[in-house]
Amino acid sequence: MNISDLDGSSTDLLVIGGGITGAGIARDAAMRGITTVLVEQQDLAAGTSSRSSRLIHGGLRYLEQGNVRLVREALHERAILMHIAPHLVRAIPFVFPLHDGDRVPRWKLAAGLVAYELLAGFRNVRHPRILGKRGVLELEPLLRERGLTGGAMYGDAQCDDARLVVATARSAVDHGATVMTHTRVTALLDEGGRITGAALANQLSGATGAVRATVVLNATGPWTDELRRMEDPAAAPMLRLTRGTHVVVPRERLGHRHAITFLSPIDGRVMFILPWNDLTYIGTTDADFTADPSSVAPTREDVVYLLRSANALFPAARLTDDDVRSTWAGLRPLLAQDGARAPSAVSREHAIVEGSRGMITIAGGKLTTYRAMSAEAVDLVARRLDRKVPRAATDIIPLPGGNAADLEPFRARGAPLGLPTTVSDRLVDRYGTECAGIHNLGMKNRQLFDRLHPAHPAVEAEVLHAVRREMALTVEDVMVRRLHLYYETRDHGLRAATRVAELMAGELGWDSDHQRAEVTRYRQFVAASEKWR
Ligand code: FAD
Repeated sequence: MNISDLDGSSTDLLVIGGGITGAGIARDAAMRGITTVLVEQQDLAAGTSSRSSRLIHGGLRYLEQGNVRLVREALHERAILMHIAPHLVRAIPFVFPLHDGDRVPRWKLAAGLVAYELLAGFRNVRHPRILGKRGVLELEPLLRERGLTGGAMYGDAQCDDARLVVATARSAVDHGATVMTHTRVTALLDEGGRITGAALANQLSGATGAVRATVVLNATGPWTDELRRMEDPAAAPMLRLTRGTHVVVPRERLGHRHAITFLSPIDGRVMFILPWNDLTYIGTTDADFTADPSSVAPTREDVVYLLRSANALFPAARLTDDDVRSTWAGLRPLLAQDGARAPSAVSREHAIVEGSRGMITIAGGKLTTYRAMSAEAVDLVARRLDRKVPRAATDIIPLPGGNAADLEPFRARGAPLGLPTTVSDRLVDRYGTECAGIHNLGMKNRQLFDRLHPAHPAVEAEVLHAVRREMALTVEDVMVRRLHLYYETRDHGLRAATRVAELMAGELGWDSDHQRAEVTRYRQFVAASEKWR
């Protein structure tokens, strides 16, 4: 849909922001029969929602802060997401080692894990086990032995954050919502002192227009206060932004076998070393951020901190800058509280408020709890629309690709098609039951089973799927958030960029100038992401 199709039209609900919060709200509202338009200034998930630690978790460290309610809710939501999106949200085992001098003693970790188990209603993804030093080393032989006192093993879940957002937005569209990406709200419309819609500008074509809405909802994550100031220039800031950076290194360099939760030997913060196929990502930092949210990028200090923390835990690794394949940095949209507290101690809970001219703003929260937050926000929207609508079955209806609990039969389909196991398994793991659509594309045209990049299992058919089914509109959308070539190859997928643009051109009607411009734009994006070096 174009802005011109929307111009002057009216909807029940306008959602601003296509991160997990906006997508979740659009899905929930559409499922309740509320006519909904969602606009996103960049790509779906291009804000914080593709820059998380990719965990669907209760968050052991929130227990340390005494936030039992948040942990209970998050563990409940984890179980639901594993049910509605089994291809995107997967249980993985974690090892939590403790060393002499760590600020968390073993008894406290043990007590925390018992509480985690209780709060999950004994439906934990894996029963926790407290381990002695030998037990930890059996699981993770390359861990620093000096000072190791023991630890624990427990379970949590991991998820492709960007794909979760795309799947949620697609489900919203399947239920009747309109989703427009690369479309920015430039101003809010006002009638009689009430916000009644927004002026829009397409960031790719330059087209402008407006949409009217009975309720306007601001779900713009780190941009929340910017939108609130459009409503009321004197609005008090709701957020305190903190930057979190991750680095990606080859998994063999650390040699870990499980996901690792640990306390940074530098400052005692809880950190993660997380497996991602043959790669590992290490995160995260937590530093106050006050500049323009669009400018967030990893700094040299972030990278040094992450590598030093990982090296202290796995001393044989001696990671250096050369090992870093890619990085990402995101902004936590935390609720502004007591300004004196350290960023890591600020609550991850959310707030829903109404502004002076009636715009609803939702801020804070976590990827894990988006579904519950969305339901709460849509309850308020329904009240403002004066409608009695029961809650939607967002906890039961699967997300696209998630409509089979057992994906094993789909794995067996790759070999008869001539697909190597790495390619075939990856398709199942990323697309769930929708891998069948990619198989069909390749069966009609064998070339679409060709790999896009010699060092990556992604195949050409995935580009067509990304454009036709997953709302990708630029080379960056495909490389970064649909296929992960950006994160997972040494050259950030640049070798594949021209072919990706060619395939997209066939779908989107680009001429050769447009194709070249897209590749150039992607090169510039990659160059900017390497500035920390
Ligand atoms: P965003 O994803 O930022 O979405 C807001 C969107 O609004 C953006 O895409 C933006 O482009 C758009 N927008 C802004 N202005 C406009 C405008 N004028 N017009 C149109 N669109 C606009 N949570 C977990 O549960 N598990 C984790 O492991 C985890 N790890 C994290 C690690 C880090 C480093 C960070 C930063 C966060 C982490 N979180 C985690 C938290 C989680 O990622 C966020 O709470 C969540 O992604 C926020 O989503 P959102 O939709 O509110 O914001």
